[in-house]
Amino acid sequence: MSIPLMDIKRQYENIEIEVNDAVFDVLKSGRYIMGENVKKFEKEYADYIGVKYAISVANGTDALTIALKAIGIKEGDEVITCAMSFFSTAEAISTVGAIPVFVDCTKDTYLIDVNKIEEKITKKTKVIIPIHLYGQCADMDEINKLAQKYNLKVIEDAAQASGAEYKNKKAGSLGNIGCFSFFPTKNLGCAGDGGIITTNDESYAKMCRAYRVHGSGLDGKYTYDVINGIDESDNVDFNGNLPKYYNYVIGGNSRLDEIQAAILRVKLRYLDSWNEIRIQNAIFYNNSIIDEFNIPFKEDYNKHIYYVYIIKAENRNDLRKYLEENGITTGVYFPVPLHLQNVYKYLGYSRGDMPNAEDLAEKSLAIPMFPELTKEEKEYVVDKINSYIKK
Ligand SMILES: *Cc1c(COP(=O)(O)O)cnc(C)c1O
Repeated sequence: MSIPLMDIKRQYENIEIEVNDAVFDVLKSGRYIMGENVKKFEKEYADYIGVKYAISVANGTDALTIALKAIGIKEGDEVITCAMSFFSTAEAISTVGAIPVFVDCTKDTYLIDVNKIEEKITKKTKVIIPIHLYGQCADMDEINKLAQKYNLKVIEDAAQASGAEYKNKKAGSLGNIGCFSFFPTKNLGCAGDGGIITTNDESYAKMCRAYRVHGSGLDGKYTYDVINGIDESDNVDFNGNLPKYYNYVIGGNSRLDEIQAAILRVKLRYLDSWNEIRIQNAIFYNNSIIDEFNIPFKEDYNKHIYYVYIIKAENRNDLRKYLEENGITTGVYFPVPLHLQNVYKYLGYSRGDMPNAEDLAEKSLAIPMFPELTKEEKEYVVDKINSYIKK
């Protein structure tokens, strides 16, 4: 048997007609940028998450970068995040000129250790970015408490957590700003790159829209006024010209394509049912994989949507080889914790600083997890993992 780690072709086959129709409708419309689908998807995603505003962007990395810009993060500011994440989280902090300050993850949830955040807060700290890693939300109540105490903002990196919940509230509605990625293999993915920013704050929403398109028009003017402390109304005269040709701050081009938005609108309707099957798959793995492999720990208050299902093994690389030899594809998320990445040598961290993240990088193994996995495939995966011990 040959089992992929993720299989987005199977997902497409199940919704092929709907997706094709949606894409062809866009092609026929001649409207490929910022059309009806983008507008409607933003509204539908905001409603789904339970926030007032959603601003679609070109990818999850841009979502994080634009969120940091909207909060006003710049050169010399410090941003606290977890040492175990995809590189983007730290990269966005560096892109705006700020300094990433890393905190270890916990031993069991693999999420930012809320007991180790306060000791990293300095006068320069402006933002905390928890990551809802693998599809489980970080402990947001504790993070928000610290943010309030020290007057910090909170950006959720929810790139792996579309539809995940914390105390019955959705990821992306729990901090000041939420950031999502629609990279094809994410649990809600498009057919290319895509991302979205969620917030209840109208001011952040306007500024994110401005940074998404060249800092132009009324949103650009609004952002300029906020940055410069100007108290003015939105009444500007563009002399009958298009507002987009009037620029106020340096933004960029980070739009979600109309075709991607059309695909995402179809897929959003299936997201809850897909997440539900992921949870059922995880329950099957939890009940079947033997204790030696440290099945994932879930906090009772969390709805973990298992974007990634992680086990841990002392001799991970050997287990990985064994599974691959038996046709099972696996993954490592992630082999190098952020504080040990080459590019961050200048920050002065060393091995041993983040023992839990380092342990995870060395021992964790992601096994096949996607909604279309068959019963036979799941049983085969479990059988091979459990038989590894006896080998
Ligand atoms: C995927 C991912 C991102 C980046 O998203 P892109 O769309 O690939 O730019 C950021 N953070 C985390 C945790 C991710 O998994």
